[in-house]
Amino acid sequence: MNPTPKPGILDISPYVGGRAHVEGAGKVFKLSSNESALGASPMAVAAFKETAGGLDFYPEGSAKILREAIAEKFGLDADRIVCGNGSDELLTMLAAAYLRPGDEVLFSEHAFLVYKITTLANSAVPVIVPEKNLRVDVDAMLKAVTPKTRIVYLANPNNPTGSYLPFDEVRRLHAGLRPDTLLVIDAAYAEYVRRNDYESGIEMVANFQNVVMTRTFSKIYGLAGLRVGWAYCPAAVADVLNRIRGPFNVSVPSQRAAAAALKDRAHLEAGVAHNEKWRAWLTAEIRKLGFRVDDSVGNFILIHFGKDGTAHDADQFLTSRGIILRGVASYGLPDCLRLTVGPEEANRAVVAALAEFAGRK
Ligand SMILES: *Cc1c(COP(=O)(O)O)cnc(C)c1O
Repeated sequence: MNPTPKPGILDISPYVGGRAHVEGAGKVFKLSSNESALGASPMAVAAFKETAGGLDFYPEGSAKILREAIAEKFGLDADRIVCGNGSDELLTMLAAAYLRPGDEVLFSEHAFLVYKITTLANSAVPVIVPEKNLRVDVDAMLKAVTPKTRIVYLANPNNPTGSYLPFDEVRRLHAGLRPDTLLVIDAAYAEYVRRNDYESGIEMVANFQNVVMTRTFSKIYGLAGLRVGWAYCPAAVADVLNRIRGPFNVSVPSQRAAAAALKDRAHLEAGVAHNEKWRAWLTAEIRKLGFRVDDSVGNFILIHFGKDGTAHDADQFLTSRGIILRGVASYGLPDCLRLTVGPEEANRAVVAALAEFAGRK
């Protein structure tokens, strides 16, 4: 018999990222992967370039310089930070470390696809909980908890819906979990959120032994191509992750550039201000064209089309204009397209093209 993978692996639909290219169009605006509208900090780019002369040396395996830079910026314990090749790697390592075959993993209906992939990859069982108005429904999540629930993944804010759970709701979710169930709070978009009732997860990790928060340099820091993320963990979880992670899982350029990016506060603030301004503008302008747009706290918005395949037609039309959005059928939202807040020129091009599309219908 030929080699066969572990049970569950052949049930995985491979992750398909946002498209990056279109044929034949002139200028292309890629607004499909929630990348930064302002790009990376020049300080991060300079730090990256400085590493070019030392590529023959292995990195320091624990990403010490980066953990210390994160610890300093956020006031955390560097020993409880674990860095990864993107936060995807950390989400995946947590599953590999804690899931036994048949364990249940809870997440909400329109949650990030990586949770399902990594659950199946570990022969565990995804338990997908319906949302209410495209928001995580804590009561429904708690009802779905069983003695087999091992991990609960919560993207907060969630991609692609753009909604978030206020702190008291996260507390309520956690309060309904057994101490041996791990709550993983994926806060990839935390920097963009400007709400008084939001907390990224740092406080939860400080108070509980079964909560982990993951963060990324791929979004507001504009370093998606480098692949750097980090997790803030209880000491025992950090210890577990450090036993199973690849010994050199974060490259030298990644460590240096990410550490430098953290020091550029002005760039971060410019990213937040740009996002606030243009997310509001896009939301209002696209609503004026007659499309439903949900309120979002992230750097993207979800646009609703009719239940008649219009989302597909709109996607094709926009693509013909060189504008790439993200179809989210794989997230259970076949009538929607997700739009990343881009640079001004891109945002204006999207609204103009959608106006043209609406006029043709
Ligand atoms: C983009 C994104 C991430 C980040 O993944 P990286 O591997 O760090 O690039 C994590 N979670 C969600 C929900 C995201 O949308």
